[in-house]
Amino acid sequence: MKQVDVIVLGLGGMGASALASLAGRGVDVLGIDQEPAPHDRGSSHGGSRIIRRAYFEHPDYVPLLNESFEGWERLEQSSGLPLLHRTGVLLVGPSSSSILGASRASAEDHGVPVEWLDPDRMRDRFPQFSPASEWSGLFEPGGGILNPEAGVRAHLDVARRAGASIRRPEKVVSIDGDDDFAVVRTGREEIRTRRLIIAAGAWTASLLGDHCEVPLIPHRKAMIWFEAADSEACSSNRMPAWLIDDGDPAGNYYGVPTWPGQPSPGGVKVGYHGFGTVVDPDDPGEITPDVVERFAADLATRMPGVLGRPLAARSCLYTMSPDQDFVIDHLPGRRSMVVVAGFSGHGYKFAPVVGEIAADLAIDGTTPRPAGFLGLARFEAGAKP
Ligand SMILES: Cc1cc2nc3c(=O)[nH]c(=O)nc-3n(C[C@H](O)[C@H](O)[C@H](O)COP(=O)(O)OP(=O)(O)OC[C@H]3O[C@@H](n4cnc5c(N)ncnc54)[C@H](O)[C@@H]3O)c2cc1C
Repeated sequence: MKQVDVIVLGLGGMGASALASLAGRGVDVLGIDQEPAPHDRGSSHGGSRIIRRAYFEHPDYVPLLNESFEGWERLEQSSGLPLLHRTGVLLVGPSSSSILGASRASAEDHGVPVEWLDPDRMRDRFPQFSPASEWSGLFEPGGGILNPEAGVRAHLDVARRAGASIRRPEKVVSIDGDDDFAVVRTGREEIRTRRLIIAAGAWTASLLGDHCEVPLIPHRKAMIWFEAADSEACSSNRMPAWLIDDGDPAGNYYGVPTWPGQPSPGGVKVGYHGFGTVVDPDDPGEITPDVVERFAADLATRMPGVLGRPLAARSCLYTMSPDQDFVIDHLPGRRSMVVVAGFSGHGYKFAPVVGEIAADLAIDGTTPRPAGFLGLARFEAGAKP
């Protein structure tokens, strides 16, 4: 049976980063993906991802984000590719918005530079978001937009140059392991490995089966690109990346402006952060015209006159954890296996630091990085909420 020191299963945003980190540490590492090349059937495509540090989801993410920003900058230097476009990030909503409040608190706790914009200043500075309302804003000038396809390719290039092996397309059909070794079965052969990093995105639950009781559920989400009705108001000179909290408990519209070097199809890209439609990742289905119409109608009331006709609609997968925080840990009773999954629609910006944590856990058995809050122990009976 073939043997390698570490296998990374899945080479999307997280697996590509873990592969680069391990190869950079001189580890004998093999990456496997079921697709022939970086692709648009998982979670790491669509031309843009928002990156910000003022983090309403949980303030403990901020130190990880500080390391991620450094990681993206290093990756830009080593790959020579532009990956991070600093447009700033604007959170918009009533001054009572819990998202604005929690983001402001995490920024204050961790010294992240942000500006609070009261409704008058919002109207002056960002008139795109002022439908005769009393919306305030929290502006983070250091935030921006990442190009996920370029990021995956850059991590894979760095990994290859550092000596990583890659096998694709090759589907892993089953995995097993104990505390010492894991076995990966593909359509071609069985491979024994000392450590297995499972970074299989929306396919993670089907691969883990009974090895993990925490549900990690794939949801289909829409990405819709709209023509810029006013090209200047929609360009990154005037429009940051944004998220609107108008009090709807189901979720929030967010978007990114047009920017120089933006991939096709151009225009303003809009999404809706919240639960989607639960799907089989092998058959996720299409975005239907009624979804596009709903986006257009909702955005016409929130950003009147700013967006033009829809240009394209594509799907992408969220993998939702029960509390929408990531799952990064060894599998209990099977310490040869490390899972990095459940990114719940906000993980891409963390790819550099997630790769380092996965490599720490695989090689050293523990990580010095403050990621304990993302471990599986939080789901155990009696764990603190
Ligand atoms: C519409 C949308 C908008 C988002 N916006 C943001 C944002 O603004 N900011 C942000 O930070 N995050 C955002 N995210 C979340 C972020 O993109 C994801 O958290 C991240 O891309 C997840 O990466 P991954 O490596 O876990 O999954 P993936 O990139 O899907 O990688 C998993 C890989 O595993 C492979 N694989 C699976 N099963 C097997 C198998 N059996 N054998 C071999 N290979 C296998 C797949 O082929 C795939 O390549 C968004 C996500 C979506 C869908």
